[in-house]
Amino acid sequence: MPAAAAPTRHSSASGQHGALTADRAAALLAGCACPRRASELHAAAVRAGVDRDRAVDFRLQRAYAASGRLDLAVALLRRTPDPTAVFYTSTIHAHSSRGLHLAALALLSDMLSQGLLPTAHTLSASLPACSGLALGRALHGYAFKLALSADSYVATALLGMYARAGDAAAARALFDGMLDPHVVSVTAMLTCYAKMGALDDARNLFDGLPTKDFICWNAMIDGYTQHGRPDEALRLFRRMLRSGVEPDEVSVVLALSAVAQLGTAESGKWLHSYVKNSPRARLNARVGTALIDMYYKCGSLEDAVVVFDGLTDKDIVAWNAMINGYAMHGHSREALEMFFQLRAQGLLPTDITFIGLLHACSHSGLVAEGRKLFKSMEQEYGIEPKIEHYGCMVDLLGRAGLIEEAFDLAQSVKMKPDAVMWVSLLAACRLHKNLALGQRIADYLVARGLANSGMYILLSNIYAAVGKWQEVGRVRSMMKASGIHKEPGCSSIEVGRQVYEFVAGDMSHPRTDEIYAKLEEMNGLAKEHGHAPQTELVLHDLDEATKEKVLAVHSEKLAVSFGLISTPPGTAIKIVKNLRACSDCHAVLKLISKITGRKIVFRDRSRFHHFVDGSCSCGDYW
Ligand code: ZN
Ligand code: ZN
Repeated sequence: MPAAAAPTRHSSASGQHGALTADRAAALLAGCACPRRASELHAAAVRAGVDRDRAVDFRLQRAYAASGRLDLAVALLRRTPDPTAVFYTSTIHAHSSRGLHLAALALLSDMLSQGLLPTAHTLSASLPACSGLALGRALHGYAFKLALSADSYVATALLGMYARAGDAAAARALFDGMLDPHVVSVTAMLTCYAKMGALDDARNLFDGLPTKDFICWNAMIDGYTQHGRPDEALRLFRRMLRSGVEPDEVSVVLALSAVAQLGTAESGKWLHSYVKNSPRARLNARVGTALIDMYYKCGSLEDAVVVFDGLTDKDIVAWNAMINGYAMHGHSREALEMFFQLRAQGLLPTDITFIGLLHACSHSGLVAEGRKLFKSMEQEYGIEPKIEHYGCMVDLLGRAGLIEEAFDLAQSVKMKPDAVMWVSLLAACRLHKNLALGQRIADYLVARGLANSGMYILLSNIYAAVGKWQEVGRVRSMMKASGIHKEPGCSSIEVGRQVYEFVAGDMSHPRTDEIYAKLEEMNGLAKEHGHAPQTELVLHDLDEATKEKVLAVHSEKLAVSFGLISTPPGTAIKIVKNLRACSDCHAVLKLISKITGRKIVFRDRSRFHHFVDGSCSCGDYW
């Protein structure tokens, strides 16, 4: 024990009034949480020969534990003769509250193996260290056997354990058994619901809280952000500001992520200026990365670059965000350039880096570069490719027309088959009109039961193109039988900080008449400019004229029409769609950009399209 045995000049602890008694030493140690003071008192106790006194020994251990010298606390505990549960509990608590879970549980197991029975405090100190349900449940059973499970500290800790492990039902059972649940329990329950996506239950608890700290606000905002309700998340963040609770870094990052999902640049700018003046959220690497992510997803790569360049402490996560930004906007060369730069700075790429890079290659048909990067992942960086990396490679090869190779690669994937990968492969067959291979792939998928709702249109198109009407019928009945409907396409546009959403054929907007009048005008003009509606994209058994009508009211066309009538001439129109751009809409939007002289920035599920004067930044390669 070097610190304790070391001679010390500070003799104040022994006092000027004669020898230090055990009582006096114990009194001086009460509440001590300073490592220096603890070791001074320890040395004094050793000199006075009272350090082995039971009360002094205990308080020394507690003082070391409280001051963060856990090593010394454990060392003292080890030489304490017949330590009781109380001795163990304070050291267990010191470990578990500092996140040293394994050490805490090792001490608990030590204690139990000596035949000591845990107290309510031992259990409530140990439960936060249980990360798995199995151990937590075992402790719950133990607590029950000892008749301690109803103790309010134990119940609170048990609830926290179940909540962290995602067992909402078990947590709720404990919660309902509490007469007057402590705010800690309410917060744990709320966080559990929010994490699991039980947002209404979470919101009920949240609304019932008389006072809410920022942890509750963040948990609720996080729930909305993670479970597809970014608009609600942003609304709550604004309410948080109004309520006078100062958002911290976590709140800001969550709000930025909500804006990134929504793609609403105006809200994003507002948040950025909020961060600049915020008392609690600093513009560090974490917030900066969320800003980069937000800006490029809102269509402004330029703003993302400005934030990136201004960051002083860039980690790999910030670089990854910027690479993804370039990739999503089709600036593939810049994305690859970033890769060389980050390596030159001595940073190591992660698996996310490679997803961004492979996306960049696939959006621009950079086959050689993509192959090289894919190979280097494992060989140079020891990163095993995941299903997403295989998906990017299959997509890259397929788009470039190397469909055989893509098919071979897709079949070689040993992981769980990925629908996105097969859809991109089928799309490649259609793009390159390789119907023979498309049919082989279709047969392969149907035979293995891998076909899903997202593939039916492509499958049926491929069979129809080769005149296999029986198969067309088979795919259609599979589609009906599956009962799974395609996720409906939904496009949104932000006008005056308000977000308007449209689904196909939407009539819910108050300005529906004007929107449809504009739409009709645009569809007419597009036809005059040579656009032939791609009616083969419509799967249902309908006549040509009706198919045209179905295409004409796609959500992205409606959103653009609304943009045209509600924003000043000459300004850019920004649209966000939840699915991939449909090729008919892509063709029409190109023409609209030419006819109206408006720039249209369009974000689909995987990338950005910037339509200017009749052409798209993707070069029709998407
Ligand atoms: Zn469309
Ligand atoms: Zn495009």
